[in-house]
Amino acid sequence: MIILKNDTFIERKDALIDMEDRGFQFGDGVYEVIRIYNGKFFLLEDHLKRLQYSLNEAQIDVDLAKRGIKEKLIELAEKNSVDDGGLYIQISRGVAPRNHLFPADAEATIFAYPLPLKKPTDQQKNGVKAILDQDIRWLRCDIKSLNLMGNILAKQKAKDSGAYEAILYRDENHVTEGSSTNIFIVKDGKLITHPKNNYILHGITRKYIQFLAEKLEIEFVERVYSVKEVLEADEVFLTSTTSEVTPIVEIDNEKVNDGQPGPITKKLLEQYDQYLHVERLD
Ligand code: PMP
Repeated sequence: MIILKNDTFIERKDALIDMEDRGFQFGDGVYEVIRIYNGKFFLLEDHLKRLQYSLNEAQIDVDLAKRGIKEKLIELAEKNSVDDGGLYIQISRGVAPRNHLFPADAEATIFAYPLPLKKPTDQQKNGVKAILDQDIRWLRCDIKSLNLMGNILAKQKAKDSGAYEAILYRDENHVTEGSSTNIFIVKDGKLITHPKNNYILHGITRKYIQFLAEKLEIEFVERVYSVKEVLEADEVFLTSTTSEVTPIVEIDNEKVNDGQPGPITKKLLEQYDQYLHVERLD
């Protein structure tokens, strides 16, 4: 496997991280997971735009365009002959003697490498189980930060309960998102999902669903919804770069509606592959 480290391509065995890299010690960095279908990046521009946003909000001084990161990622995918899979990229504030304060002169550390991703076909066909769990994360979930402890604890709790995902809520009236996914409910033919603000990651797949909903003339509503609304929804599904659209058919051991993937979820799933060649949505 070939890795991109800073501006050079190296072998996996040489891809070493310094003990005092701030990504390693503080989780002081940001990342993206980008999907590749049929040898082509899906929504690469949207991912790069979000990565630049995360860098800016974290005050990590990297200009992705100036560094030629887009071209480097394309080259990395080619070097590894990625056809159906993805890339992970992370950028930390760099290496410096341990201190919470930003170092004066550290150079950001950039790492990117291929991920072996596959379409989650079985999950999409049968749907998955979810649990409800309190959202204990910080209040800047719009930054795709390396700090994922809250997300990891929630995901493991779901797994330990025999479920695939944890649907997170701040309080009974405010469901936010999944531990690694955005959550949608369907009620009376309308799609409802959390507004784009600091409480959620502004998912690229969420944006793609908005685009598909427009094509299919399905109403797309961005508003806060409650735990009760999730439990009484006609359909519930999750979205992410790796899970695409995946139906949620059971929550806290109660069936969602009749316990089968619903018609709007299925429609979105049917249409999902139509625009996988698209590089940007806005
Ligand atoms: N929310 C969280 C917390 C996530 O980690 C992810 C996936 N990285 C998402 C939502 C979905 O985002 P995307 O569609 O861009 O993969």
